[in-house]
Amino acid sequence: MTNHATPTRLESGVPEGPIETAWERHLTTLNMVAPANRRKYSVIVVGTGLAGGAAAATLGELGYNVLNFCIQDTPRRAHSVAAQGGINAAKNYQNDGDSVWRLFYDTVKGGDYCSREANVYRLAQCSLDIIDQCVAQGVPFAREYGGTLANRSFGGAQVSRTFYARGQTGQQLLLGAYSSLMRQVDAGTVKLFPRREMLDLVLVDGHAKGILCRNLITGELESYAADAVVLATGGYTNVFFLSTNAVNSNATAVWRCHKRGAFFANPCFTQIHPTCIPQGGEEQSKLSLMSESLRNDGRVWVPKKAGDPRPAQQIPEEERDYYLERRYPAFGNLVPRDVASRAAKAVCDQGRGVGPTGFAVYLDFADAIQRLGEPIIRDRYGNLFAMYEEITGDNPYQVPMRIYPAPHYVMGGLWVDYNLQSSIPGLLVAGEANFSDHGSNRLGASALMHGLADGYFIVSYSIGHYLGTHRPEKVSTDHPAFQAARDEVRARVDKLLAIRGTKTVKQYHKELGHLMWDKVGMSRSAEGLGEVIGEIRALREDFWKNAKVTGNSADFNKDLEMAGRVADYLELGELMARDALQREESCGGHFREEYRTEEGEAKRDDEHFRFVAAWQWQGEGQEQVLNKEPLEYKNIPLKQRSYK
Ligand SMILES: Cc1cc2nc3c(=O)[nH]c(=O)nc-3n(C[C@H](O)[C@H](O)[C@H](O)COP(=O)(O)OP(=O)(O)OC[C@H]3O[C@@H](n4cnc5c(N)ncnc54)[C@H](O)[C@@H]3O)c2cc1C
Repeated sequence: MTNHATPTRLESGVPEGPIETAWERHLTTLNMVAPANRRKYSVIVVGTGLAGGAAAATLGELGYNVLNFCIQDTPRRAHSVAAQGGINAAKNYQNDGDSVWRLFYDTVKGGDYCSREANVYRLAQCSLDIIDQCVAQGVPFAREYGGTLANRSFGGAQVSRTFYARGQTGQQLLLGAYSSLMRQVDAGTVKLFPRREMLDLVLVDGHAKGILCRNLITGELESYAADAVVLATGGYTNVFFLSTNAVNSNATAVWRCHKRGAFFANPCFTQIHPTCIPQGGEEQSKLSLMSESLRNDGRVWVPKKAGDPRPAQQIPEEERDYYLERRYPAFGNLVPRDVASRAAKAVCDQGRGVGPTGFAVYLDFADAIQRLGEPIIRDRYGNLFAMYEEITGDNPYQVPMRIYPAPHYVMGGLWVDYNLQSSIPGLLVAGEANFSDHGSNRLGASALMHGLADGYFIVSYSIGHYLGTHRPEKVSTDHPAFQAARDEVRARVDKLLAIRGTKTVKQYHKELGHLMWDKVGMSRSAEGLGEVIGEIRALREDFWKNAKVTGNSADFNKDLEMAGRVADYLELGELMARDALQREESCGGHFREEYRTEEGEAKRDDEHFRFVAAWQWQGEGQEQVLNKEPLEYKNIPLKQRSYK
């Protein structure tokens, strides 16, 4: 018997009135906690990446008691450290026509008109403060000769607004956030809990009141209570097995919150990045990104003739197809990622791909080196070139790089309102873990902006509002809700360890990755999606019968860690396919083969699908209910995206 909730229309809480002043006006309506009262409240922040690290430091600075958790041995190793190319901000230092409005417009258009206008406008506004904050922390952004901050271009924009620190922008920003965080640790407002994996959220009277963690070193199950929880646990791209994300990135925290009642928004909106080093073989467990910043100077091409066996240098200019420059003259090599990825797939499907597998295109710096000289190129991209050479053995100063699209980022995540409040009161979600700002395609250099806007400038107001409104009663880990959650988590861990099958967890993950890439990847069809739902279910059933999970729970156990994550991916993967199936249109990174323009671009159906799909868990073995948040475009007229 089913016990389905009735689908509801979700309210974003965006203030009425002009978008330019929406955030400022909204702040005046929020409740607050007085400085002297903040120390009476504790807040759990899960995640120490740019979103979590910034949120924990800011809440600590305000005087709350913050408990900050991460999987790694130190906050500095959160996945944000890997970000290479840069962070967007509408400073208009180049005097090339940028503005808050233009960044807002580019981001909405880049997301193929699938994001919430007011969130994106606020993001563009916050971008200005982010750069000031980071510079004040000492983040060593690249500078011009005269000392002003330098900018470069990223996809989907005709201005240069990307601030960068060589190819290590994420690392430098994370060190900035980490310095602020450690200042609070020293001041006693933030307590760090590294090497912990959150396995469940604890609710009391429907409000988030704490978390359960596995201590990854001792195996002990630990309980933590607080007055509110902020989740900043990153994205779920590793559902594809091979991706550019850190191997430890996972969906467990968001998925377990989903099962406790947090709606999951637009799970099928995933980003396949066009410039990654192609897969080298079946034994590989990770893919490496070549930053989009390289497309500032690198030119993308393939031979005009299918199956051309000649090395790149022997193919004369007139026999090369610079297909992005040809198809999109206005944006050229800097079209957004979804567009560039699809174009790369199309030329490879025509048999014009290069390299041993035929699944690669060239990214060529010969022209730029001739024009600017090698030292300038080395200065701009030295560490990325070195990384490429180390991985492939080819010297990109001499031969073009070979690149191919790969899973990279997720625009989907837990549903949040304008306050970053999820559908569970007291559970806020920040950074890549929420769905809020990028629609169906994220523009390059906008994820760092999103994480830091949430962490430094939004979460703190929302926490104050939540606590000031509800004035929550203290709950301790002795509460029966904690005991019940502990029993459930323990039972699941025991169940995993009791399978004692023969097939490794990695094999299941790989098989799931193949299914996701083939049928929920760069292009999707009703037929493939219909099939893959059954295939994922069959794989999941097999997992719970045949997976080989070694060791025990009272110890360091990497196998157990991975098993829990793969079990979650096997559920999330199905939801992604169902979401992709219900969305009978193409938009951004969600490309349904049935819905394309005559020129092969994504064709939206604004009449029927201009909504955020927010899925609601209904219990094991039951299908989630689809709730909808209608998207209203009052400031930017909806139109077919064009980068020509
Ligand atoms: C190779 C690469 C390059 C990129 N380059 C750029 C770029 O140049 N510009 C840009 O804007 N974006 C870039 N991105 C995207 C960007 O890096 C990410 O979207 C962003 O850093 C995510 O930050 P976050 O704080 O939301 O999550 P993360 O940095 O992923 O942090 C997640 C945190 O949550 C913790 N965590 C996760 N699960 C649990 C759990 N169950 N229990 C406890 N803790 C948990 C982790 O330990 C970690 O501390 C890049 C991404 C990749 C993969």
